[in-house]
Amino acid sequence: MTAAATRRTAVVTGASSGIGAATARKLAEADYHVVLTARRKDRIETLAAELAEAGRSAAAYALDVTDRTAVDAFAAALDRVDVLVNNAGGALGADPVATGDPEDWRRMYEVNVLGTLHMTQALLPALTDSGDGTVVVLSSTAGHATYEGGAGYVAAKNGARVLAETLRLELVGQPVRVIEIAPGMVKTEEFATTRFGGDEAKAAKVYEGVAEPLTADDVADTIAWTVTRPSHVNVDLLVVRPRAQASNTKVHREL
Ligand code: NDP
Repeated sequence: MTAAATRRTAVVTGASSGIGAATARKLAEADYHVVLTARRKDRIETLAAELAEAGRSAAAYALDVTDRTAVDAFAAALDRVDVLVNNAGGALGADPVATGDPEDWRRMYEVNVLGTLHMTQALLPALTDSGDGTVVVLSSTAGHATYEGGAGYVAAKNGARVLAETLRLELVGQPVRVIEIAPGMVKTEEFATTRFGGDEAKAAKVYEGVAEPLTADDVADTIAWTVTRPSHVNVDLLVVRPRAQASNTKVHREL
């Protein structure tokens, strides 16, 4: 890792696609040294090289956030950390409670909640030592209201929300902000495809007729905005949806 100890450093999990990749770009543009992490090493290496070519400072580190031993080794390898963006996560399945796969529920809890817990615990000492640390948690509007077929994901994102809310209470008086970003419908290349096990037709239905779902860039923009506020400004929770979506279940579709 080439992070100059003098440069403000932002770690982004799930930086190999979608919101995480877009956030890494935005934070690099905001002059952070960005450490991109995800399981797919080739993707984060390509993005880090692209950022470096554009004169930004970036490094890539292959990491599965559910693997605590690997997360601890990653933390030990960092020179400094000022910002942690807990973005790695996602949904698996959209089945009713009656027939949902418990294995999907377990995996969603592992990545969205325990992954965030592992990263936050491992980096908190360095974030505190920075004297001006920021923890961002990507929850979702699913962490605030449920919908049919969403229970497993909703439960996991509620877990991420509660982690953020509780951590903010526990860290009061410490120089670390805790920011929760709760996006509604965001059209990224992989989120819905992953949710439906690679079924592109089902994935396309999610966004069908919606004129302008949010993009990864829209969400990255809100994340970068919260992170770059002055240190004493803590945006506790930022809910962001496309104009065509008034709630998880109230979506305007032009069909
Ligand atoms: P993507 O599917 O594009 O990105 C998910 C990212 O998480 C990938 O980079 C993936 O990388 C990474 N990831 C998954 N599992 C692990 C793991 N075990 N360890 C490390 N990295 C992992 O989804 P989005 O960009 O759309 O979503 C990003 C976040 O925003 C997620 O937490 C999602 O729940 C949340 N969100 C998304 C919304 C949407 O509508 N798209 C709405 C609200 C919230 P790799 O496979 O290489 O490890």
